[in-house]
Amino acid sequence: MKYNIAVIHGDGIGPEVVGEALKVLDTIAEKYHHEFVYTPVLAGGCAIDAVGECLPQATIDACKAADAVLLGAVGGWKWDTLPGDKRPERALLGLRKELELFANIRPAMLFDALADACPLKPEIVEGGLDIVVVRELTGGIYFGERGTKDTELGLAAYDVEQYAEEEVKRIAVTAFDMAMKRNKKVTSVDKANVLESSRLWRRVVTEVAKDYPEVTLEHLYIDNAAMQLVRNPKQFDVIVTGNIFGDILSDEASMITGSIGMLPSASLAKGNFGMYEPVHGSAPDIAGQDKANPMATILSTAMMLRYTFGLSEEADAIENAVKTVLAKGYRTPDIYTEGMTLVGTKEAGRLICAEI
Ligand code: NAD
Repeated sequence: MKYNIAVIHGDGIGPEVVGEALKVLDTIAEKYHHEFVYTPVLAGGCAIDAVGECLPQATIDACKAADAVLLGAVGGWKWDTLPGDKRPERALLGLRKELELFANIRPAMLFDALADACPLKPEIVEGGLDIVVVRELTGGIYFGERGTKDTELGLAAYDVEQYAEEEVKRIAVTAFDMAMKRNKKVTSVDKANVLESSRLWRRVVTEVAKDYPEVTLEHLYIDNAAMQLVRNPKQFDVIVTGNIFGDILSDEASMITGSIGMLPSASLAKGNFGMYEPVHGSAPDIAGQDKANPMATILSTAMMLRYTFGLSEEADAIENAVKTVLAKGYRTPDIYTEGMTLVGTKEAGRLICAEI
């Protein structure tokens, strides 16, 4: 099969980690007889330098025409003095909006070999961790009505949390579909004891659950969920929640796994279209030094194969190759501990390709 991928290398370490991820995809193509066609496009600081804007229309068009998008990272010191609406990072919001990426998927996986990087007690995470946070990305308080008004107590400011049934339904369907491919448990997180919008959220998620009799649904209040995530993270499989709660919970969940250089993510639209990117930024402090960990981006390509292309065997092959390289003791500087073998970006990529 032939798959078209729009590739945004971006800024800083973006081109380095994407370069290794493409080598991994090429290795998969060769082994499993697929064809991946890459269309490189500009976004972020490099786009500002080349054409004067962070998200050119040509990039949006190419992304829409592709089957999936792979993104490194955008931003850097060079553009830090630009006003907010002109900064490279605006490209990310623009892409989410233009591509209608309403579901953000962040797995929090703790690899056995990196258990030392986990800040929780070993007995809490024994045997590893594998949680996915499904966050609603284009609704809720971040996109609701906002403003200021004069009150008796002085100037007041407000932001409205609002969710419509269809918005909740589509993210719930995404979460249940994902749970069906995993351990068949969904935990929906809200604040239904206080918020009207959460009561609607809970009602709609409960209705969607009826179509998935094999999946166990549990509801938790956000305060309890934040606590349970560090008390007993192994109880979770798929967590589904709104934009603001998901923003916070997904960071908490990823912290449990240690290094930011290991964390992939996906942002999905209707159908199977998605944009895949590491959770980390452009790391200008280590850019161009062969020090960046390419594993987050490589694991993002595994998510692309699994969620957009439906190639689970190939996705497993990438994830297992990463696990094997770690188990053999190879470490980029961000996850290096004494006694391990220190490798650079390129060598880490080469080792992963060799394991595939
Ligand atoms: P960052 O994630 O780029 O870096 C934070 C720290 O983690 C740095 O010390 C960096 O060296 C390290 N790090 C990050 N990725 C790594 C990797 N793959 N391997 C090894 N070490 C890694 O966050 P920041 O410093 O806050 O932001 C730098 C720039 O990136 C800013 O311009 C920011 O706006 C941008 N940013 C972009 C994205 C994105 O494109 N999705 C996300 C976050 C930040």
